[in-house]
Parts: sequence; structure tokens; C-alpha cells
Amino acid sequence: MTLRITEIFYSLQGEASRVGLPTVFVRLTGCPLRCTWCDTTYSFTGGETSTVAAVLAEVGKYPARQVCVTGGEPLAQKACLTLLSALCDAGYDVSLETSGALDIAPVDPRVSCIMDLKAPDSGESAKNLWANLTHLKPRDEIKIVIASREDYEWAREVLLAHRLDARCPVLFSPAQGSIEPAELASWILEDGLPVRFQLQLHKLLWGNMQGK
Ligand code: SF4
Repeated sequence: MTLRITEIFYSLQGEASRVGLPTVFVRLTGCPLRCTWCDTTYSFTGGETSTVAAVLAEVGKYPARQVCVTGGEPLAQKACLTLLSALCDAGYDVSLETSGALDIAPVDPRVSCIMDLKAPDSGESAKNLWANLTHLKPRDEIKIVIASREDYEWAREVLLAHRLDARCPVLFSPAQGSIEPAELASWILEDGLPVRFQLQLHKLLWGNMQGK
């Protein structure tokens, strides 16, 4: 069983509840979406073919117990499910970053899904697979990237209509270069929303550098 891999690297987790923890990232190649603000377009094509065993061997070279499988959209490759279970079997704390457009139901329940919901300015809102909400576990997290006031109002409506915070933690993140982070922070405070504001730690530390 093979996978197409863009990169495997060791860094600090930049997002969600594991922020700041030393983590091995496995970035799978390919994504069926084209978000306007995507910062990993280099993962759409290319990459190298690898077996699940070879990925595990590479991950094992680093001292971290946290592994984040990301993309692209990792679930676009069938073998991703096998990789996730193999990483859990090996004793890692495994998280999966996924677009919210593909079915998360078959993902190993030991994995924490960090699942996006795409707001309108992403250009991919129509691809949100709303049925995924029923598969979320308390250990999962929902992330919404917000690029405008309109996106914020959409996110607020979705949060309240679907009681997202009752399912799992919810993260609101500003799209870099589209809105001022402080503006989003003040909107969240004004409305007293039960969400976590987040900035991407790796971009604060290293800018938008591949492999970081
Ligand atoms: S789902 Fe992720 S990788 Fe795919 S286009 Fe959107 S931001 Fe980029």
C-alpha cells in the first residue's frame, strides 16, 4: 500500500490544542479543493511515492511522540486511513488536518481530527460535508479560517445553528493578509463566542516557510 508524500519534517505544532509541542508532520500530496488563501499549494502535485512502513521508519527518526498527518487533503488518498492506524498502533499521539470536504467516518477513532469548515471567502464553502459534524468526537477540533467580516458572520451563524462548541473545541483563525488578527479578536470578544482565537505559531516564528 503506497502513499504520495510531499514532505516529512519535524517542527513545533503551530495550531489547535497541541500548539507548541514538538511534532513530526507527514504532508500528503494532492487536494481536490482550491481555497483562495491556501498556503500549501506546493502540495497539490509532485511528491514521492512511499510505503506506510517507510513513512513510519522516517517518522521514527525524530524524538517526538506527536505526529500530524496533513496536506493537501490527506483523506484524498485511500492509504491515509492505513497510515493513521499504523501510527496509532506504534504509540504516537496522532492528529489529522482535514478540509471538512471528505468523509471522516472511517478515520481511526484514536486519531484527533482537526477539521476545517470552509467559510465563503475560501471559495470552497459548497464543499463542506455537513454530515461530518455527526462524526466528530470530543477529542476532535473544528477550525474556521476567517478572511472578512462576512466570513465571521457566517462562522458565527454556523457555530450557533449547529451548536458546534457542544461537539468539540472550535477555533477561529484569521486568514493571513486578509483581515487584521486584532479585528477578529475584538469581534469574538464583543459577541462573547465560545471559540478559541488562534494565530499560527509557526508563521509567527518562521514566516511562511515550507518545512516549518
Ligand atoms: S483544503 Fe487545505 S490544502 Fe486544500 S486548497 Fe484548501 S487550504 Fe489548501
